[in-house]
Amino acid sequence: APAGARFGRFAPSPSGDLHVGNLRTGLLAWLFARSTGRGFLMRVEDLDRVRQGAAARQLEDLAAIGLDWDPPVVRQSERLPLYEAALARLTAAGLTYECFCTRREIQQAVTAPHGPLGAYPGTCRNLTERERRQRRDAGRPAALRLRADVTEFTVTDRLLGEYRGAVDDLVLRRGDGTPAYNLAVVVDDADQGIDQVVRGDDLLPSTPRQAYLATLLDLPVPEYAHVPLVLNPAGQRLAKRDGAVTLRDRVARGETPRQVFEALAASLGYDEVNTPSDLLERFRPETLPREPWRLDPNGLLQPCEYP
Ligand code: GLU
Repeated sequence: APAGARFGRFAPSPSGDLHVGNLRTGLLAWLFARSTGRGFLMRVEDLDRVRQGAAARQLEDLAAIGLDWDPPVVRQSERLPLYEAALARLTAAGLTYECFCTRREIQQAVTAPHGPLGAYPGTCRNLTERERRQRRDAGRPAALRLRADVTEFTVTDRLLGEYRGAVDDLVLRRGDGTPAYNLAVVVDDADQGIDQVVRGDDLLPSTPRQAYLATLLDLPVPEYAHVPLVLNPAGQRLAKRDGAVTLRDRVARGETPRQVFEALAASLGYDEVNTPSDLLERFRPETLPREPWRLDPNGLLQPCEYP
C-alpha cells in the first residue's frame, strides 16, 4: 500500500457462492470505505474451507452488483511468510506456547463446571519442557497459542459503541500448520493499510481478541463497524438450503443483477437508487437499520426483529 493510504476491505472466505447477506455486507463495506475517502480492497481468505473456483465467482458477483475495488486482490494462501514472521515476533517476546490438546479435550475443558465459558482454560500453558517432549514424542501435533495476559478487551464499534468481550489463549497456528484466522486477519489488515473493518456482526465476539492481538504486535487497531446479518424465514443465519439466496440463483429465476442491487439498497433504507454511485451519494451510516434482515419465503428482503 502507498504510504499513508487508508483502506476498507471485504474479505470473504471462498467456500462457495456469496448469498444476499454476504453481498449486503460487501456493499456496506464498500459504502463505508468509499464514503470516507478510503480505498477499497478485496482479500481472499483462503487458508481453509476453500472450494475450487469460488473466489473467482465471488469477485464476479460483487462486480456484477456494481462494486469496484483497488488492485491487487490478495490471497492469504500466498502470504504465509508474513504470518510466520508475526508468530516469530510473538514467540520471541514469550507470548506463545505449544498446545497439544485434542479437539475433544478442549471441548471437555471449556464446558467443565468451573471453566471460563467458551474460553480455552490454559491446559497446556505451563507444561514443563519434559511434558512437552513427551507429547511431541507421542506424535501429538502442536498448535501454537497466544499467552494472553488479559481475559477481556474493549473495542469501539462505529455502529454498536463500546463492546467488551472475552480474550483467551487463542490459537495462532493450528496443529496442521495453518495460521489461524484471527492472526491472519490482524496481520493482513495492518500490512494492507486497512484502518476500517466493516463485516457481519457474527464476528463481533472475535473482535476483542483481534484488537488485543494487534496491540501486542504493535499494530494499529482499525475502526470497526459490525453490520447485521440477513436471516432466513425461521430467523436463523441464511444458508444455501434457504432457496434462491445467491445472485446466480436469483438471476436464474429471472432477476437482473441490477434488481438484486436495488433490493440490497432498499434493505439499507434507500429506495429508488439505481447504481452504487447513486447510493454512495445518499449513504448516511447513522441512519442504517440496526436490526437484521430477513429473506422472506418469496425471496424479498424484509426488516425483522432479532429472534
Ligand atoms: N473471512 C471471514 C468470513 O468470511 C471474514 C473475515 C473478516 O471480515 O474479518 O467470515
